[in-house]
Amino acid sequence: SVVTRFAPSPTGYLHVGGARTALYSWLYAKSLGGEFILRIEDTDIERSSPQAKQAILDGMQWLGLNHDKGPYYQTDRFDMYNKFIGQLLEQGHAYKCFMSSEELDAIRAQQEEQGEKPRYPGTWRDRNDHPENQPYAIRFKNPKTGEVVFDDHVRGEIRISNTELDDLVIRRSDGAPTYNFCVVIDDWEMGVSHVVRGEDHINNTPRQINILKALGAPVPEYAHVSMILGDDGKKLSKRHGAVSVMQYRDSGYLPQAVLNYLLRLGWSHGDQEIFSVDEMINLFSLDHISKSASAFNTEKLIWLNQHYIKTLPPAEVAEHARWHFEDQNIDTSTGPDLSDLIRVQADRVDTLKELASVSRYFYEDFAEFDPSAAKKHLRVVAKANLIAVQAKLEALTSWDSAIIGQAINDTAADLDIGMGKIGMPLRVAVTGSGNSPALDVTLALLKQTQVVQRINKAIE
Ligand code: GLU
Repeated sequence: SVVTRFAPSPTGYLHVGGARTALYSWLYAKSLGGEFILRIEDTDIERSSPQAKQAILDGMQWLGLNHDKGPYYQTDRFDMYNKFIGQLLEQGHAYKCFMSSEELDAIRAQQEEQGEKPRYPGTWRDRNDHPENQPYAIRFKNPKTGEVVFDDHVRGEIRISNTELDDLVIRRSDGAPTYNFCVVIDDWEMGVSHVVRGEDHINNTPRQINILKALGAPVPEYAHVSMILGDDGKKLSKRHGAVSVMQYRDSGYLPQAVLNYLLRLGWSHGDQEIFSVDEMINLFSLDHISKSASAFNTEKLIWLNQHYIKTLPPAEVAEHARWHFEDQNIDTSTGPDLSDLIRVQADRVDTLKELASVSRYFYEDFAEFDPSAAKKHLRVVAKANLIAVQAKLEALTSWDSAIIGQAINDTAADLDIGMGKIGMPLRVAVTGSGNSPALDVTLALLKQTQVVQRINKAIE
């Protein structure tokens, strides 16, 4: 059975690259009815923080990448790692290394000087003359001959000669098991069948495979996903704008748009661009992940966001929009229902943040008219037209867009003026600016008394 995992180190927020890896891993498990595990790799205690752990959980939750098991924390699992380190020592697959870091640094410096790749020369590999009361690390006895071969789902067959690999530290002299070792034990112990992770880990894979073999554990399959670049071709970083997934929430993107964007950023299915989550699950396979690095393209993300704002059920968009209204201190408890508002505004905005900010007048009276719109549309002549339309609107005994539209048309006909002479002044009077959805629907979303009062203010 298929078991995948996402194994972030909690040293910062959930970034775009991590989220994409998580998505691919999640999709693969879902596509085959497998299990998806969330594992927090927090063994680097200095660099890990509770805030970062929370940020990862929040990001995963916002994206809807729910885990079937976990979250597991590596810091809870030290006893188990130590048990297996003990086993490797006993079976002669690992050994104590008493080399001090100064000694090791000196060796490395010398190797570099001679143009060699710095590596541990195996000094303590076969020694029994162990000093007493001296700190030691534990190293894995990497095979000296042969090669490691694996078939990566993204990069194809990879072969590394064991002569390239030195003896990896699996427990530091302070007693802490090292990252590469914990990953191996966890993937094995958690029954991970497919490791989907960033290509920055590809050099660790042969070492991890050797350790698995020494433990007599099965070797999982691997898919190493390529990097994400900024639009300038450099590795994606803060310079390029948002890199944290939650920043996309804050900027007004729907999780569905971000998921669709991340899916396509490095995976394809013909030339299809739009994928519902169900479609993603049905169509995803590890073998269509792109080998080359992908460049981030904000315009495409905006395009997808617009698409989903327009096409998801308004009630679903409303759930996400609510956060932005709160964030901008707009009280939506009175005023139009958010779903109704979204029906009217959906094709007018790029983001939910923008949706909230351009919809404020539906929920609050505004303090001032936009000065240039007022100057242009609320002149003395326009005020006479406003008085006339106000009378018609005030007299209405029911309030919907068709009836409102009719009242506006009737006023223009009575006064024998074009719609523009009445529409724009009314728009500015009621919304405060010259920009709003169609007048009939805009007014219909407001209350009749509100509209009358706002016109009063405009004709003062
Ligand atoms: N914890 C590692 C990271 O955050 C990932 C390890 C793995 O996926 O094997 O980069």
